[in-house]
Amino acid sequence: MPVNPTEKIWHNGKLIPWDQATIHVMAHVVNYGSAVFEGVRCYELPTGPAIFRAHEHAQRLLDSAKIYRIPVPYSRQQLVDAMCETISANGVWPCYIRPLIVRGYGEIGVNPLHNPVECYIANYPWGKYLGGPEDVGVDVCVSSWTRLAPNTLPSMAKAGANYMNSQLIKMEAVLNGYVEGIGLDVNGYVSEGSGENIFVVRNGKLLTPPLSTSVLAGITRDSVLCIAQELSIPVVEQNLPRELLYLADELFFTGTAAEVTPIRSVDKITVADGAVGPITKAIRQELFSIFDGSKPDRFHWLTPVPVRQKAGA
Ligand code: PMP
Repeated sequence: MPVNPTEKIWHNGKLIPWDQATIHVMAHVVNYGSAVFEGVRCYELPTGPAIFRAHEHAQRLLDSAKIYRIPVPYSRQQLVDAMCETISANGVWPCYIRPLIVRGYGEIGVNPLHNPVECYIANYPWGKYLGGPEDVGVDVCVSSWTRLAPNTLPSMAKAGANYMNSQLIKMEAVLNGYVEGIGLDVNGYVSEGSGENIFVVRNGKLLTPPLSTSVLAGITRDSVLCIAQELSIPVVEQNLPRELLYLADELFFTGTAAEVTPIRSVDKITVADGAVGPITKAIRQELFSIFDGSKPDRFHWLTPVPVRQKAGA
């Protein structure tokens, strides 16, 4: 879907017009993929807009930069404040927030150490990412592409270049008529979707691949683990053989964009009877009740955004 421009983008501490947030074709990032980024959602509660797990996203951005030796002149709190400032300036929410740090224009060799570091934050309206009606799951496939092998591109960094692999998985899936593809890790165990973590429900237990299987340490994944604990659903982080996808009682993706998306079939094998299962429903309901403020934010996951008024209001 096309991006829906807002008025301003935060760039190195200042708000600049959306159209001026441009980059030179010879910037390091354009040639070598040297970028780390985040995807964050801001929801609309009766009390006003609130960012979901803003501090965790800002921390993961700093962690990604640390792995790639990118010096970031902003603290976690400053990045959270900058997200709030951007939303407030644009008057656009609910929204998706895209913090992005790149190696900019300067030297053109592979060594990035002398290139300037540019920090950006954009926000824009964005609806549902995967799937259609709430009570219907998505049809997915196992990809012929393997996820990033350990000690090649680090999966714990949310780096732009990782998404070349995600693009291969996604394109293959979509061109073959599926909504999403699931990548296996280098040992053939289930890893994750092109932009989502994955959960299997089997015999009343919630199973998800461990961080050692080339997954991103998803913040929604972590939120689901907390909610499962609160609901007394046993959770096991373990290697999952591919065939467990076919034998699952329930299967769902998690992610900031995908939120909790049930899966109806894998490789045209229907998951159980194809209906959205009770554990998926319960977890999704708990999470959404935090997003819309209908239940208290007992995990302290929401950061209220001080705003004046909505654009166009
Ligand atoms: N894995 C990948 C590859 C992703 O791109 C994402 C989306 N950021 C996720 C998992 C889910 O992470 P999160 O819940 O933090 O959005």
